[in-house]
Amino acid sequence: MFEKVLIANRGEIALRVHRACQEMGIKTVAVHSTADEHAMHVRLADESVCIGPPQASESYLNIPALISACEITGAEAVHPGYGFLSENARFAEILTEHDITFIGPTAEHIRLMGDKIAAKATVKRLGIPVVPGSEGGVTTDAEALAVAQETGYPVLVKAASGGGGRGMKVAHSAAELPGALSAARTEAKAAFGDDTLYMEKYLSQPRHIEVQVVADAHGHAVHLGERDCSLQRRHQKVLEEAPSPALNDAARAEIGEIVSKAMKGLGYLGVGTIEFLYENGEFFFIEMNTRLQVEHPVTEAITGIDLVREQIRIASGLEMSFTQEDVAFSGHAIECRINAEHPQTFMPSPGLIKEYHTPGGLGVRIDSGAYSGYRIPPYYDSLIGKLIVHGRNRNECLMRLRRSLEEFVVDGVDTTIPLFKELMAEPEFQNGDYHIHWLEQFLEKYS
Ligand code: ADP
Repeated sequence: MFEKVLIANRGEIALRVHRACQEMGIKTVAVHSTADEHAMHVRLADESVCIGPPQASESYLNIPALISACEITGAEAVHPGYGFLSENARFAEILTEHDITFIGPTAEHIRLMGDKIAAKATVKRLGIPVVPGSEGGVTTDAEALAVAQETGYPVLVKAASGGGGRGMKVAHSAAELPGALSAARTEAKAAFGDDTLYMEKYLSQPRHIEVQVVADAHGHAVHLGERDCSLQRRHQKVLEEAPSPALNDAARAEIGEIVSKAMKGLGYLGVGTIEFLYENGEFFFIEMNTRLQVEHPVTEAITGIDLVREQIRIASGLEMSFTQEDVAFSGHAIECRINAEHPQTFMPSPGLIKEYHTPGGLGVRIDSGAYSGYRIPPYYDSLIGKLIVHGRNRNECLMRLRRSLEEFVVDGVDTTIPLFKELMAEPEFQNGDYHIHWLEQFLEKYS
């Protein structure tokens, strides 16, 4: 097992990784930009290294600075968290070249799944159902029109290197398709430096359901059930729950088995998430994330399995600590992403947190680096914490979430807490009766 791990991230996820390391008796090295000098992950880590100025490109994405930090501190492994370099295959390779372990899958699998066209073709071959659409990329209008004729309208034009919901455009008719292609191409080029596009049938009211997998180097691949992430704004997740209100045990076991068998076939290593759209009882693969997800705590809540601990064990060459038969699902969990944003306009609200009080009690978990007197820097994403609530069933979970939101005090900056309070009162949300467009419809009403 490693003696010292460097955490190449910031905010709540850096803290999350630090906690797992501490519980495993592993020393931690925090890295930080000059803007994060007073951050909680820096305060709690055994050691810390300043790796550059506030801009992420100069600090958290600065590979030479991270390698130097490993060398100075003698860290043997790097946990990338999510975002930043977590899905950068080159980073994983460079670490390996320096004899430092990347806590994550192989560079080959990161690269494969980062190309959404290649990813789709691969999982299809491994028996996972995919959204109907183009076989590979589409370049000309004529090609796109031919694909759309086959799948029927509406169609979605997507970026092969896409992420964060960018580079995606819907076309409802042949007349709209050329415009959607050129808009997606421009957006993809600007965001990812790659304007390769592909197409999918646009599903009208699906749920976003993703399956968590864990695989080790000893031939085991296990699924930990699903998370329902259908509550989205601009294709970005806002609240997640497990299990999905839309799945029964048989459907869960069936998709779980398909996914774990495919990951075994691929020789996948570490934790991963296979994302699906789910409509009329059918699953359609959209992408695979080769990293820990923001919403991983809901899975931890219902399985009792520490996913970061498993990542570290697997990266060090150990077997994962459980088998498929050991995995038992207990109760229901919901996560709210607490962003420092205006709850109606979603304008980022960095600045000083004057007062901060978190809820507590049975079944309540807070993952956050915030505290009274903490100044949220304006340079990074606006997630300041996650409230994760677990109950014996969905109803208990909802009641617990409602009272937790009432207890939560963040003064000095705007947060999305008031939005979640409003959401709690919505009968459709209470009934679990929602799809990927539902939240945006609700927001129109609420603002
Ligand atoms: P990204 O990597 O940018 O997050 P994804 O492929 O994971 O892109 O899709 C993000 C979200 O976009 C999905 O959760 C869903 O809301 C929407 N989406 C993606 N593909 C489709 C589709 N074929 N039909 C309808 N909505 C889709």
